[in-house]
Amino acid sequence: MSVCVRFAPSPTGRLHLGNARVAVVDWLTARCRGGRFLLRFDDTDRSRIRAEFLDAIREDLDWLGLDRDGEYRQSERGGLYAEAFSRLREAGRVYPCYETPEELAAGRERARRTGRPPRYRRREGAAEAARRREGEMVPHWRFALSGRRIVWRDRIFGRREVSLEEIGDPVIRRTDGSWTYLFASVVDDRDLGITHVIRGEDHLTNTAVQIEMFEALGGDPPVFAHLPLLLGADGKPLAKRGDAPTLADLRGEGVEPRAVLVVLARLGTGRAPGPEDDRVSLCRDFDLGAYGRAPVRLDPREIRRLSARMVRSMSFTEAEPRLRALGLGDIDEAFWLAVRPNLERLEEVVDWWRICREPLSPVRGDPAFLELAAELLPERLADTGEAAAWLARLAAASGRRGRELHRPLRLALTGQEHGPELKHLLPLLGAARARARLRGRRA
Ligand code: GLU
Repeated sequence: MSVCVRFAPSPTGRLHLGNARVAVVDWLTARCRGGRFLLRFDDTDRSRIRAEFLDAIREDLDWLGLDRDGEYRQSERGGLYAEAFSRLREAGRVYPCYETPEELAAGRERARRTGRPPRYRRREGAAEAARRREGEMVPHWRFALSGRRIVWRDRIFGRREVSLEEIGDPVIRRTDGSWTYLFASVVDDRDLGITHVIRGEDHLTNTAVQIEMFEALGGDPPVFAHLPLLLGADGKPLAKRGDAPTLADLRGEGVEPRAVLVVLARLGTGRAPGPEDDRVSLCRDFDLGAYGRAPVRLDPREIRRLSARMVRSMSFTEAEPRLRALGLGDIDEAFWLAVRPNLERLEEVVDWWRICREPLSPVRGDPAFLELAAELLPERLADTGEAAAWLARLAAASGRRGRELHRPLRLALTGQEHGPELKHLLPLLGAARARARLRGRRA
């Protein structure tokens, strides 16, 4: 059987790390088995969706590298839902409800007061019957649950058993004619041949209802797997935290998308993400059964740290096209390798390029020492070896070592407190520019 998985966001906001994690695991499940990965926008609730989020979500998925084989919008598939609805109606599995929102709220309140769960039960009083007969009110429609026990094996949460007695009949069509996610999702999953539904733990309780809908429509339900809740470093749900970064925030910070992909993919599997990980290694190790069911913590700083490690270990071949895109096509391998250990984000290479290639006013803290350094500087500094030899001569002549030797040089040569090792930096600067800066001239 060929695998087909969908990621089904509601376009009500930008992707945060919680939904991105679901997308990553969906994508891996499909891609690692040569299957298909689809994007489905759950946009039937017209009051909540915003068109700009469709593009934002596509952009975020592209950035993460989650390529798709197709895209669907529930708002464009009404015909399919209407057809499935008629079949359920013929089979007596759906029924119209004529209660007003106020009556429904009062019913829930009554249940609460008497200590019963606030679930809806089919019950037509005289007022509703009259409304139905008179045809003056547009009803909403519900799916009639059987009340049996549903048992399934969740690939992450294990054996689950839910009695449908405990669940109220769900609304599947609203009074404005729109379809609810719960129903539309089942129709779509059947129609698109979805084999695995992998989503957040918050949908666990929907599963029993959806399994019954699959069966009412005829056919086997897909495999279900629910990913546990994602918590921030402080143990609070990440989705509820206003300060948790979205993917767009991380992109804006210059974080490597591969770091996000790898951290999200490895989260809760017991395997630590590493800077060398990529889609190939993720696929090689992928196992849906490896995800635990306990809530997982994610400190977004972990992503930033891994991203920095990825930049610092990036080969020139990998960096080159990106440097060119930054307008730094002149950077060669020696420059990249010298500067790379000092980068948090790849874009910071621009700063080092400017420091090496554009005039800079030096910070001149120690004139006598810097003059000695300038005098000892050879005509040319072709490589690291020559630069190291100069530093050794300067150390011997001045009697300085370590920080005392390096700090004034670094400040004069780069204007910075920190940076690449001087012996690597000097050949990038060139002897003439280095000498001028040591002598306090803008160069
Ligand atoms: N639109 C739902 C959500 O964003 C999809 C759930 C599912 O994958 O079935 O949570």
